This record gives sequence, structure tokens and C-alpha cells, in this order.
Amino acid sequence: MKSDTCFSKRTNQPLSVYYCEEEAYSAASYERLTRGISLYPYLCNKCQLYHLAPEESRLNVKHNACFCRDSNGNPKALYLTKEDAEKQREKSEHEQHIRLKIYECEQHLGFHLTHML
Ligand SMILES: [Zn+2]
Ligand SMILES: [Zn+2]
Repeated sequence: MKSDTCFSKRTNQPLSVYYCEEEAYSAASYERLTRGISLYPYLCNKCQLYHLAPEESRLNVKHNACFCRDSNGNPKALYLTKEDAEKQREKSEHEQHIRLKIYECEQHLGFHLTHML
């Protein structure tokens, strides 16, 4: 058993953990049926397992969709609309207390976020 449980940033409750995407999807559809709430599974990069998050927090974000790289040479997350970039910017500022700025992708495929210096 892993000891580093992930907690919801909104409710501070431990997040439910799913060991595969299929299991997470069936849990999501169960919640939709029984409680009428829309959730989607995502792979947690902290515990490497699946959690569920509210559908409204889902962002149109793509990885490896363009050639833009960050200062470490990693592919930048591409937000398909400015609203998505804006949502992520607010989320990061709120949760991680970092200041970000939105700029248009060099290939005009969407928007990226960069740290404000
Ligand atoms: Zn996790
Ligand atoms: Zn780009």
C-alpha cells in the first residue's frame, strides 16, 4: 500500500483511487446514475493511479500537439481555447500560488501558459 494518499483540493477529502482506467470509467458512470453528477477519470501524476474529477473542471488541453517547448525542453500543454488557458491560469494561481501569463501558440494551434518573471 502506498502511504501518500491524494486529497481533493476542493474538499480536502481523500480521493478515491482506481487501478485502471476501465475501473475509473465504471465508477464515473455509477456516480452519474446514482447521484447525477458528471465525473471523468484522469491519471494522477502523483500516485500514478486514477482519480475522478468533476466534468466542469475538465479543460480542452492537449499534450505534444505543437512544437513549443518550455525552458527545460519539455512539450508545453496546449489549451485549445483562451477560456481553457484562463481556467488553468486561475487554478494554478489559486492552488499553487504561481503567476502565469497566457500567450498564443507559435503555430497558432491554441494557447500556452508561461511563468511571469
Ligand atoms: Zn493521486
Ligand atoms: Zn505551441
